[in-house]
Amino acid sequence: MPSKPKILLIYTGGTIGMVKDFKTGALKAFNFSKLLQKIPELKLLDCDIETFSFDKPIDSSNMNPDKWIKMVDIIESHYDSCDGFVILHGSDTMSYSASAISFMLEHLSKPVIFTGSQLPIGDLRTDAKENLITAIQIASLREQDKPLISEVCLYFEYKLYRGNRTTKINAEHFNAFTSPNYQPLAESGVHLKVDRDAAFPLNGTKKLRIHRHMDDDVVVLKIFPGINPEVLSAILNIPNLKGLVLETYGSGNAPTEKWFVSALQKAIKNGLHIINVTQCAGGSVSMGQYETSTQLKKIGVISGKDMTTEAAITKLMYLLGQKIAPDSFRDAFEKSIRGEMSQAK
Ligand code: ASP
Repeated sequence: MPSKPKILLIYTGGTIGMVKDFKTGALKAFNFSKLLQKIPELKLLDCDIETFSFDKPIDSSNMNPDKWIKMVDIIESHYDSCDGFVILHGSDTMSYSASAISFMLEHLSKPVIFTGSQLPIGDLRTDAKENLITAIQIASLREQDKPLISEVCLYFEYKLYRGNRTTKINAEHFNAFTSPNYQPLAESGVHLKVDRDAAFPLNGTKKLRIHRHMDDDVVVLKIFPGINPEVLSAILNIPNLKGLVLETYGSGNAPTEKWFVSALQKAIKNGLHIINVTQCAGGSVSMGQYETSTQLKKIGVISGKDMTTEAAITKLMYLLGQKIAPDSFRDAFEKSIRGEMSQAK
């Protein structure tokens, strides 16, 4: 009989494990072992659970690339001994972290499931228990002794998503995340249904490769009617800036005024990589569809296609960290590397 799967539960912080500060009433992170005591149901799960906690759990607003490295280090050191990983993380930046970790882990062949909650686990009406318990069950799913899910995912409110396709859309509803341009990989109802066509097939042979270098000389700029030359110039002249994610209108459109296009053109000539993603909640950039994006294409702006801003900025950090030659950068960016963008049919 196959042994029970072993799951590593990594606690980084977030509302799930927070308590109200006595004096101020503000929520702050607290002790992980106390948190686990509040969920006796974990003992009923058909897997063995090992735990690891950040020394100082954080509100995910304090997330940064060093902490992503910490997460991949923990995964690496338990990779051979564990069958799956569940990362408890604040919801505010969970989509950034899930995207970043997906790029940092190449040839992953085990599940890494991010989850958290909108209410602390100790709250009577908490959404934490369902999220945590089902995330662990998903990380434990096996068929012929092989994992059913073998990629970085985000589980929240009955849905499992590809992590680098997600974005946080609501600070109030339990249903806090969506995956605007890719279907859920699984849904939890009376049954736990996995969409096998949506999930990646298992990579059986290649060894896990960890990438730790995430270059943070990057910025996101959301354009708006009224953006002026001073604002654009201040951004483009940030010392050492190597990459810019430009959040444009609709299918990748931006002002056609000369000062705007010339400033971007000059920056690109000087080596800046500019990625075009849409401000819209769904859909794709398609440069050349309108006159207002034709210029961008001509001057060498890179298409972020249907990527989320979270995936685009972390992919930029990752690819800059790979030290790709400037003339190959566009091709590298416009190709899907972890399922973060739809491929042209
Ligand atoms: N501020 C919290 C965090 O991201 C919110 C949450 O966990 O849902 O850490």
